[in-house]
Amino acid sequence: MEARITVLPGDGIGPEVIAQAVRVLATTADRFGHSLSFEEALIGGVAIDQTGSPLPDDTVTACRAADAVLLGAVGGPKWDDPTARVRPEQGLLGIRRALDLFANLRPITVFPELTAASPLRAELLDGVDILFYRELTGGIYFGDSRTEGDTSFQTMAYSRGEIERIVHLAAQAARTRRGKLTMVDKANVLEPSRLWRQVTGGLVAETYPDIDYEVMLVDAMAMHLLSRPADFDVVVTANLFGDSLTDEASMITGSLGMLPSASLGSAGPGLFEPVHGSAPDIAGTGAANPLAAIQCAALALRHSLGLEEEATVVEQAVASVIADGYRTTDIAAGGPAVSTTEMGAAVVQALGS
Ligand code: NAD
Repeated sequence: MEARITVLPGDGIGPEVIAQAVRVLATTADRFGHSLSFEEALIGGVAIDQTGSPLPDDTVTACRAADAVLLGAVGGPKWDDPTARVRPEQGLLGIRRALDLFANLRPITVFPELTAASPLRAELLDGVDILFYRELTGGIYFGDSRTEGDTSFQTMAYSRGEIERIVHLAAQAARTRRGKLTMVDKANVLEPSRLWRQVTGGLVAETYPDIDYEVMLVDAMAMHLLSRPADFDVVVTANLFGDSLTDEASMITGSLGMLPSASLGSAGPGLFEPVHGSAPDIAGTGAANPLAAIQCAALALRHSLGLEEEATVVEQAVASVIADGYRTTDIAAGGPAVSTTEMGAAVVQALGS
């Protein structure tokens, strides 16, 4: 197949880790006989420096024309002035909005060799493989807000359509995995949560009766995620709950440099970016872990290009370099470490074997 990837390296370690992800995508395409083309565009601080805007129009055009967008990270001390009119994060929010990316996916997997990096006991981590679907463009973060005197208001609103479209994606994903869907809400208190429960329950009964469906209150989920994380498969939830739960879940793995994310809309390209930021403290030192970015490449293959086998092969290559003992500094626990490019090369080599 032929596909176009728009690459937004961004700031700090963004360009360093994204270069390794591109290398892995190019190798995978060669191996499977696909033709991928890569076009770079500006976002974040580097875009402000060169054009005055954190999201130049050319970047939005290039992203809209692509099949998938690979993003590094944005931000850094140079652009940290909170009073500045233009800031790097505006690029990030702007591109998510421009592409109408309403579903944010965060896989949480634990590599058996890295359990020591987790704050949880190793026996709790056995078999952890969770895929979060967080609603990204609705709910309280986008509701009307105002302050009257000493009181502030922020509205939580969800429509049936907003709920249905993300639940469809999550339920379809559950079917390709272990067949289980957990919907997290606060239906004992919040009216929009009662709509989530009604709509999701109806949709599952009607369209996905084969999946194992459960509902859970967000406060209970916060506990169960830590006490029995291996029990969850696909989790779908509203923007506010997903924001907190995905950060909590990311700590289960204990390694920020390993976590990818995907943001999807109903049509058009998905956006794939590591969960971590631009890590200015290690930028330029060659210490950045590229495995989050490389796993973003796998998510792009799976979710935007429909290349499941190729995605799995990349994920297996990542697992094999970890099993073979390759470690960047962040996961080396004080032991010997390889550089960003050496880790990328190890994955590329594993892909060929
Ligand atoms: P960060 O994720 O950049 O770094 C936190 C810590 O984790 C640092 O010690 C860093 O060295 C380490 N780290 C992160 N990614 C790593 C990797 N791949 N390999 C090895 N170590 C890694 O978060 P921060 O320090 O709070 O923020 C730094 C800058 O990044 C800020 O300007 C912030 O606004 C921005 N940021 C951007 C995004 C994004 O682009 N999506 C997300 C978060 C933060």
